[in-house]
Amino acid sequence: MKTIKDINFKGKRVLVRVDFNVPFDKQGNISDDTRIMEAMPTINKLVSDGAKVILMAHLGRPKKGGFEAEFTLKPVAEYLSKILKQEVVFTQSLLGEEVTLLANNLKEGQVMLLENIRFYPQETKGDEAFAKQLSLLGDAYVNDAFGAAHREHASTATIAKFFPRDKYFGLLMENEVSNLNKLMNKYEKPFTAVIGGSKISSKIGILESLLNIVDNLVIGGGMRYTFYKALGHNVGNSICEDDKISEAKSLMQKAKEKGIKLYLPEDSIVADDFSENANTQYVPSMDIPEGWEGMDIGEKSVKTYCEVVLGSKTILWNGPMGVFEIKKFAEGTMQIAKAVAEATQKGAFSAIGGGDSVSAIKESGYADKVSYISTGGGAMLEFLEGKRLPGIKAIEE
Ligand code: ADP
Ligand code: MG
Repeated sequence: MKTIKDINFKGKRVLVRVDFNVPFDKQGNISDDTRIMEAMPTINKLVSDGAKVILMAHLGRPKKGGFEAEFTLKPVAEYLSKILKQEVVFTQSLLGEEVTLLANNLKEGQVMLLENIRFYPQETKGDEAFAKQLSLLGDAYVNDAFGAAHREHASTATIAKFFPRDKYFGLLMENEVSNLNKLMNKYEKPFTAVIGGSKISSKIGILESLLNIVDNLVIGGGMRYTFYKALGHNVGNSICEDDKISEAKSLMQKAKEKGIKLYLPEDSIVADDFSENANTQYVPSMDIPEGWEGMDIGEKSVKTYCEVVLGSKTILWNGPMGVFEIKKFAEGTMQIAKAVAEATQKGAFSAIGGGDSVSAIKESGYADKVSYISTGGGAMLEFLEGKRLPGIKAIEE
């Protein structure tokens, strides 16, 4: 793997694509700095080498094809200045003489952040001329933006071709790629995938792909109701995708043919409303009464699922078991988090990914007790679907 680890970048202008797509609160303060902190190992390594570090990033989804105050990266530059204890140079334009001059005049160990790259519509189009212009700012290119690795954009993929010899994975990317490769190729059996979340439609690709590697496929979340319905059960008001029933049937059929154990929750916690104040009841079967909707897996399912997880050597978890954002429907998800942590302690390799799943494991307090938490939601899913991500391919080729 071409990583920055073994190279000294002293005096080099290093163009680094990072994922600084952080959320802000109503006062305009960064409300979660996880993504910035995750890029710090790479930034610190380059700074201590004495490189001239030029960071490229995007924020949100600007639409106008030019500056939009709502999406400026200026607050991120200020935040970064505090962490690095040095004034981070911030440039409003990405192209032109001024930015070239700023890049060339950086001192060794100094850091510069370019304004939101998506203010240029060429970015998301993967425009070659734009990528070439950007490439002139650096002597080397580093991609550390795993969260954007599934996008074939100018700064995440196209630009790499202008650095045929000097393109590298950053430390975060390297960690993601090696862990995901381990999960897909070097796993120990039994391999259990726990898949939940709201919709089956967003998970069909990964479910199909996992049928080639796992021994156990454990299903939770709202998407289980599409499976229930496919089996002829009543789903009440539960979330259910009628147009995906045939896919659910075919997934169950394929699992059976391959000898994979597919687990569906045998009981549910149901509510008469999608809210904190809803009345709830326990339903010990797959049939959800009329007027009620399934919100979490029930205690029998929790017990079975935890046993399966605890008996596994490799575990992948994506998608919460229930509506964990509402405390009284978080139990199933929290119990799975605990089981994954316990299995890891017993020697299993555990990987967790997906925006909501990562929030859930953090909430559970077990985040530091699992082997690996992926920083990329969409990117991780596409990797596990077996796709070659443009951001990874561009560095490897
Ligand atoms: P991830 O971001 O980890 O990939 P998803 O986005 O697929 O996960 O799914 C997370 C969402 O699924 C959560 O917002 C959660 O409330 C929702 N969810 C889980 N169980 C249910 C359910 N029974 N009914 C409706 N929504 C559910
Ligand atoms: Mg999500």
